Amino acid sequence: MLIPGYSDLSLARAGAMTHFHPGPSRCARFRLAADASPLFPYLNAVLDHALYREKPECVQFPFEGAFCTLYPEEAVAAPFAGLQEAAAFVGRLLRFLNDLHRRRSSLRPVYRRFRPLPVFDLYKLLPQSNCRRCGLQSCLAFAAALSRGGASPGQCPDFAAPLYCQAVYPVRDRQNRLVSTLAIDLGHDQPPPERGPAETPAGLTRRETQVLRLLAGGATNVEIAEELAISPNTIKIHVTHIFDKLGVGDRTRAAVWAARHHLL
Ligand code: SF4
Repeated sequence: MLIPGYSDLSLARAGAMTHFHPGPSRCARFRLAADASPLFPYLNAVLDHALYREKPECVQFPFEGAFCTLYPEEAVAAPFAGLQEAAAFVGRLLRFLNDLHRRRSSLRPVYRRFRPLPVFDLYKLLPQSNCRRCGLQSCLAFAAALSRGGASPGQCPDFAAPLYCQAVYPVRDRQNRLVSTLAIDLGHDQPPPERGPAETPAGLTRRETQVLRLLAGGATNVEIAEELAISPNTIKIHVTHIFDKLGVGDRTRAAVWAARHHLL
């Protein structure tokens, strides 16, 4: 057994990791009783969506409905409703890691690291007009968000057309927890949908479209308010109007609607 236990489990308010998770949720942090880094190349080998990062050294991966970041001697994971749910998750995670350690001789480790896209290379692809139609303050802010995975190229109407299109949908269990994602290919030659001020699907205003994009990316009302430099109360009103126009009752369904209409 590589990791005999854990300590110092605590919960804090979750931020960007609460994608598609309705209601209150928390981020769990805990210390590992042993160095988990020997397992990182094996996690990279067996998990489809693992990101093995160099600085700081960690592996990020979805596991049983949560998103986990494993550092050599500690880990964070989200989202959880409370401490009990988080503790049960940590127990299952450690069993998985120890089982992986037991099986490692039959696996081929993968040492390839995930490297974020360079911000300035992305910036060079943009018109640099700072028109803010993407919902961000500037082209540079948009390039930075793209680089860390916090924005999608489709948010900028002037970004080059993709060579290949894919839509990703959240898959949830009966308790409404995110368990997986489903990727559907939309074809090699399909041009991206036309977007711009004239197009307002479901009658959304330009501002409501901006709010929906950020909401679908997992931002809270307060985070959206900070991003768009308007008050949280105004965002609350926009969200109510968005739900009415889309005919949905929660943020998850609004996010799925946004994915289906290529707004992400
Ligand atoms: S919409 Fe495109 S051009 Fe306009 S600010 Fe955003 S990234 Fe720059």
